[in-house]
Amino acid sequence: MHEMSLCESVVEILAEEARRQGFQRVKTVWLEIGRLASADPEAIRFCFDAVTRATVADGARLEIIDTPGQAWCERCAVTVEIKQRFDACPVCGDFPLRVIDGDALRVKQLEVE
Ligand SMILES: [Zn+2]
Repeated sequence: MHEMSLCESVVEILAEEARRQGFQRVKTVWLEIGRLASADPEAIRFCFDAVTRATVADGARLEIIDTPGQAWCERCAVTVEIKQRFDACPVCGDFPLRVIDGDALRVKQLEVE
């Protein structure tokens, strides 16, 4: 499952942060999931619980931040919201647009102890 490997990389980030910052346990993880990242939040939740077992994030709460897809339209010179990666500009119909946000899965914030 695609979400499983995404969660495994999140756990690696958390383990790395724990080493760097010297904390013992992660209590809450705020995870930003872009709508263009093709990751299902429910699947992420399920995998997160599984892959964090016996890690610094064992039992951690997962807060998901849903981020809309954003792209830059050269022709209109504006940032527009898109639902899918190869969507055309809703204003002028031009495509492909340059995706500038909402295509990643990233750890935004951590509550640790
Ligand atoms: Zn446009």
